[in-house]
Amino acid sequence: MKSMVPLGLIVVATFALTSSRCFDSAKVFRVKPQNEKQVNFLKHLASIKQLDFWHPDSAFHIVTQMEVDFHVRAHQSRAVQTLMEQNEIQYEIVFNNLQEEIEKQFDGKRNFTGRYNYRKYNDWDKIAAWTVRIAKMYPKLVSRMQIGSTFEKRPMYLLKVGTERGRKKAIFMDCGIHAREWISPAFCQWFVKQATKTYGKDKIMTHLLDNLNFYILPVFNIDGYVWSWTQDRMWRKNRSKHSGTNCSGTDLNRNFAAAWGTTGFISDDPCDETYYGPAPESEDETKAVATFIRNHLSSIKAYLTIHAYSQMLIFPYGYTSQKAPNHAELMEVAKAAVKALSSLYGTKYKYGASASIIYPTSGSSDDWAYDQGIKYSFGFELRDKGKYGFLLPESMIKPTCMETMLAVKSIASYVLSHAL
Ligand SMILES: [Zn+2]
Repeated sequence: MKSMVPLGLIVVATFALTSSRCFDSAKVFRVKPQNEKQVNFLKHLASIKQLDFWHPDSAFHIVTQMEVDFHVRAHQSRAVQTLMEQNEIQYEIVFNNLQEEIEKQFDGKRNFTGRYNYRKYNDWDKIAAWTVRIAKMYPKLVSRMQIGSTFEKRPMYLLKVGTERGRKKAIFMDCGIHAREWISPAFCQWFVKQATKTYGKDKIMTHLLDNLNFYILPVFNIDGYVWSWTQDRMWRKNRSKHSGTNCSGTDLNRNFAAAWGTTGFISDDPCDETYYGPAPESEDETKAVATFIRNHLSSIKAYLTIHAYSQMLIFPYGYTSQKAPNHAELMEVAKAAVKALSSLYGTKYKYGASASIIYPTSGSSDDWAYDQGIKYSFGFELRDKGKYGFLLPESMIKPTCMETMLAVKSIASYVLSHAL
């Protein structure tokens, strides 16, 4: 019988290559290690089994009392469960069959009006076509430009949102740097929709768009996003290939020139989910964003980057535990933003410097933007806290985006009146 097993695996592997990856019977476990011994066990487990960490994003960051979510492939889940039981690790099974959850996320209402549907997850082709349409619909408010191309040569579109009024301060916001965090691009689309729809009606938005420009990058990591739609829903990195490895992809949020490759856990293994790339800005996508921001430093006063999940609003630094020079101010801005956010549905957010409230990492875009002199640099980790994780159902897009709008407007208003 033993010889049957490899044969079965070959069949599965072939299937995976010819169609999109299936997550039938793959599981997501949640563990809260109680002591150092359990932490070490989990790290060891990660070294002998293929665990895909959802939170934190790598085994390295696990500490006692942290809620750790990880996804295990179907064929390893029984073995992982047994090992945890033998080591008296208490676990919760968040998802028993990941494939079912993937299908369940598409629970948003269809609309039959032919209008763009902001309450559903849109694939890249739809988003790209939308960037053309929205600029045509609101020519006085929205313009589209291309800031570069991805590794797979897809054009990277940026929307400039704001009225034409000479020199204005600007805020740069990107979504979808990590492919599988689908709620993030949904938010950038929502933001543009709300901004254009409420201009001239909502006092705050009108004031913001009259006096600020928003540069919105609806999807940062387009190749990865396409891959997450067509091949592997759990894909995180971009799709670049570098010599000397068969593995694809660099973690774009480790690829910026902010203490690149030095602090916290960063991986030089191209097969890892947090691989930092062969050099800072080695990736076409990172380079395009960094170049655009460098060329607009005189106007860009704030940088916002949207991730999921875990409900946090973080700011520099991530690569050092030292406080940013305007730490106290950033705390105040974050506090006000989180207060605005929770005023709608009571959603609770943590906030603070990323090294202290998440864990140290280097090469991240928000640290890099801050070091360029952009004093207001924030990273959002949107809903939820792990019930659905990356598979937030479409029915939650609207409430998530509505509350997040309040936080972004709060930060933008502050930046407008305080940034020099
Ligand atoms: Zn992310």
